[in-house]
Amino acid sequence: MTTVYLGLGTNLGDRELNLRRATDEIERRIGKVTSLSSFYETAPWGFRSEHAFLNAALAVQTDLTPGEVLVRTQAIERELGRRSKSVGGVYSDRPIDIDILLYGDRLLTTDTLTLPHPGIAERLFVLRPLAEIAGEVTHPVLGVTIGELLRRAEAATDPLR
Ligand code: ADP
Ligand code: MG
Repeated sequence: MTTVYLGLGTNLGDRELNLRRATDEIERRIGKVTSLSSFYETAPWGFRSEHAFLNAALAVQTDLTPGEVLVRTQAIERELGRRSKSVGGVYSDRPIDIDILLYGDRLLTTDTLTLPHPGIAERLFVLRPLAEIAGEVTHPVLGVTIGELLRRAEAATDPLR
């Protein structure tokens, strides 16, 4: 059994409902959801959009492999109405995006999956919800806790802090 942290984001439709439905499907198809963060309102990042995001993170206990988790999270994205994936690193509006942030301490690089998720340390919209439920968890590559990564990212954003 592995503790997997997933990051959720949505900026289209009924965003709270999208997060709740995604969480229900994750519980049904991936494993027991043992923590769920608050929902954080965030400005679109990396692209222009009128639609603000609602972001969250959750912990799920699973016996699935990383590849199986990805297949299932992508199926949930599709079923909740996501039509296309981002192309060439260009982000876009989406009813739900599910990223695998951490899969225990596993490091993995394949064509379809990088673990830990490479964007964690730079993205406040990932770190804020993740730190709420995994502040004491050590990032297996960076060797510091998620809480510390959040403090550093906030300090980098606001030099007066
Ligand atoms: P983004 O989340 O960056 O907006 P997508 O959700 O469209 O983009 O994902 C693009 C690709 O990222 C997916 O096809 C998936 O194979 C790949 N990917 C690599 N690492 C991960 C990860 N840790 N979690 C989720 N997707 C990942
Ligand atoms: Mg994604």
